Amino acid sequence: MDPVRVRFAPSPTGHLHLGSARTALYDYLIARKTGGQFILRIEDTDQKRLVEGAEQEIYDGLHWLGLDWDEGPDVGGPYGPYRQSERKEIYQKYALELVEKGYAYYCFCSPERLSEMRTGQQQRKEPVVYDGTCRNISLDEARSRVAAGEKHVIRFKTPRTGATTMTDLLRGAITVENRMLDDYILVKSDGLALYHLAAAVDDHLMKITHVIRSSEWLPTAPLHSMIHRSFGWQEPVWVHLSVFLKPSGKGKMSKRDAAELVKDGHSIFIKELENLGYLPEAVLNWVALMGWSFDDHTEFFTKQALIESFTLDRLNPSPAAINFQKFDYFNANYIRMLTDAELAERIKPFFDREGLPADLFTLTRIAPIIRERLTTLDDAIDMAGLFFRPFPQLTADQLPGKDMTPEMTANVIRSAIEVFEPLPSLDKDATEPFMRSEVDRLGLTPGQAFGTLRVAVTGQKVSPPLFESMEIIGKQAIMERLQAALSLLSA
Ligand code: GLU
Repeated sequence: MDPVRVRFAPSPTGHLHLGSARTALYDYLIARKTGGQFILRIEDTDQKRLVEGAEQEIYDGLHWLGLDWDEGPDVGGPYGPYRQSERKEIYQKYALELVEKGYAYYCFCSPERLSEMRTGQQQRKEPVVYDGTCRNISLDEARSRVAAGEKHVIRFKTPRTGATTMTDLLRGAITVENRMLDDYILVKSDGLALYHLAAAVDDHLMKITHVIRSSEWLPTAPLHSMIHRSFGWQEPVWVHLSVFLKPSGKGKMSKRDAAELVKDGHSIFIKELENLGYLPEAVLNWVALMGWSFDDHTEFFTKQALIESFTLDRLNPSPAAINFQKFDYFNANYIRMLTDAELAERIKPFFDREGLPADLFTLTRIAPIIRERLTTLDDAIDMAGLFFRPFPQLTADQLPGKDMTPEMTANVIRSAIEVFEPLPSLDKDATEPFMRSEVDRLGLTPGQAFGTLRVAVTGQKVSPPLFESMEIIGKQAIMERLQAALSLLSA
C-alpha cells in the first residue's frame, strides 16, 4: 500500500473516549505501517460546544496511549494551522468559490421563517429539509443584499432530483436519494464555517488520502462526497468504522450508561481508565480488536505487532458489544508481562495518590508477590498498602485461626518468635520450612497457624503470601509485632 495521510479530527467537546481512541489507533497504525503521516486536527468550529480542558485531554490521552502524531496544532507541519478556528479565512474563500460556481447559494431566511417551515413539514410528514426559497435568487441580487449587510448563511445547493452514490471501503456503494438530503449550511450567519465544509476543505488541503472515522458520519458522508466533487477534487477513501454497543449488546452507549460503568470499576473514558489502573498496552490491544481482527484466534498484539499486522481490509463494519471482561483479561495479562522494576514504576503513582510513602526499592521487592493477583494497577493498594500503612491496633480475638483456643494461638506466636530469633534475617527459604515443621509439632493445620501469624504480622486476614511478606516487612518489625500479639493474648 502507498504511504497514506490520515487525520484524527476530534472536536474538543467532551472527554476522549474509547471510540475516539480506536479511530486514532487505526489512523496511527495505517500511517506507521505504510510509512505515511498521522495528523491531528482539532475541529473546534462549533464554538458553543467547546469544553474547557478538552483539547488538552486529547493530547494527554493520545500521549498516554503512545500514539504520536506527525503534524498537529502543537507540533506544526507543512499544512497548518491544524486547529480549525485558525482557518476561518480559508473556509470563507472556498465557500465563495462554491457560490461562484453555482454549487452553493446565499440564504436570507430568518430563524422564524425556518421554524414555521419545519413545523409545516412535520405536520405534513415530509422530510424536514430546507425548502429552497432562496435557491432562485439571482447571484447578482444576492450579492447586493449581502453587500447591503443583510443577514445570511451560505447553503450547499444539493441536487433536488436523482441520487448520489459514494463508496465506503467497508460497506461498498452507498446511495442516497438527493431529495432526502438537505441544503446544508456551509457558513453560518456569523461567517464561521460549519464542520461539513471545513472538514472537506481541510481534508483536501492537508492531502488526506483516507478518512477513517466513526459511523455517526455515515448519513452525511454523501454530502461530503458531493462537496469534494463540486470543487473538482479527488475524494479521499472513506472508511466508517463499526459502532460500539453497550455491554449487553442492546443499543448504543448513553451518557447514563457511561456513568453507571464507573461503579463497577470500568469506564469508556481514557482518562478514567488511566485512573482506574488500566495499562495503555491493554487499552490498545483491546480496542484494536473491537472492529478489526488479524485472524480468528490471535489475541495478543503489542503496538509493534499491530503495526505489522494491521490492514484496512480486515476491518469489520458490524456493531460490537463492549466486553469489559475481555478488557480485564488483557489488562491482567499485560501486568504479568511487566518486569518487577516496571511494575513498581507503574504502581507507584497509585500509592502516591493514596498518600502512602511507597519507595521504588520496596515496590520492586513487592512486585513479584502481587503481580499474579492484579487485574488493575490500583488493586496493588489493596494487596500491598499494608507495607506502607501504620500497623493497626489489633485485639486478642482477631488472632486465633479457625477452631483455635487462645492457648493454641499463643503457642504459634511463641514458636515463631523462637524460630525467628536466631535467624540473621527472615528469608522465606529459612522461615517457611522451620515454621511448617513447627505447625506439625503443634498439631495444627497450616491454615490455622498461618492464619494467626498473618494477622499478627500484617494486621490483615488477607495479604500477599505470608513468608514473602515477612521478608519485606523485615525482622525487626516482625519481632515487635509478634511480641505485641503475645502480650495481647496473655493480657
Ligand atoms: N470532528 C468530528 C468528530 O469529532 C470528526 C469527524 C471526521 O473525522 O470527519 O466526530
